[in-house]
Amino acid sequence: MSAEIEQLRNDMKRLKITEAAAVVEQKLIDAQMKEPSYQAFLLDLLRHEIKMRDGKQLERLYKLASFPECKTLDDFDLSAQESLSKKQLNQLRELLWLEQAYNLILLGPPGVGKTCLSIGLGIEAINHGYRVSFVQMNELIRLLKTEEISRISRAKIKRMVGSDLVIIDDLMFMAIDRHEANLFFQLINQLYGQTSIIITSNKGPEEWGDILGDPAITTAILDRLIHKSEVIHLTGDSYRLKHRQTIFGNN
Ligand code: ADP
Ligand code: MG
Repeated sequence: MSAEIEQLRNDMKRLKITEAAAVVEQKLIDAQMKEPSYQAFLLDLLRHEIKMRDGKQLERLYKLASFPECKTLDDFDLSAQESLSKKQLNQLRELLWLEQAYNLILLGPPGVGKTCLSIGLGIEAINHGYRVSFVQMNELIRLLKTEEISRISRAKIKRMVGSDLVIIDDLMFMAIDRHEANLFFQLINQLYGQTSIIITSNKGPEEWGDILGDPAITTAILDRLIHKSEVIHLTGDSYRLKHRQTIFGNN
């Protein structure tokens, strides 16, 4: 590498144009062959910096959202889910519901793709500039209960409240006591009206009362969740069972 290019790279790094600095030597070699205009060369170099930065920012946001797996809506196999039409999936993908702070309630038995669909929608939302948090219901209760004493829990809840979309996975996986139901209500109340919520559950709202215990709190939570919401019933057999991986093969 010539001293001049080394100087250029160091200057670019000092100015924090690090992605372009990493490729500038190769781009200069290419430019000597292809002879683009000065303008086109500069544009290409800066575009590279922007593209790489945007990619890293998205990665950071996916990580902050805490998805348990990263499957996009393109990975969602519609043929495995007859209760959702292509048109409906495309409508969900347009994110108008999120823009208008609608909640989505995804219901269905285990393995039909509720969590998978919620993650796909969450990733789509991040790609469109929305802030997203994903949390499992039992983890959410733990965070709410330790909010006073744990800085990490506080930061996570704060991030959730500042999100445009909060995905609460597996509501009613376990029964919660009155104090926990109260904490949950306070959070839902804080989110109400400004943050969309996706709830996945294998029990319908009519059964939530049994698990939340207190009928007054259940009604108050349901009121806020259902007020502006779309309920989506996913049906069919478990995707896990149908696509079971076996050691001996499936024949
Ligand atoms: P649920 O939350 O309804 O119990 P999951 O979303 O966890 O089900 O799905 C179980 C597994 O099957 C996951 O690994 C998920 O990625 C996969 N899966 C489920 N439905 C689909 C689908 N329609 N297309 C692709 N993968 C799917
Ligand atoms: Mg699930």
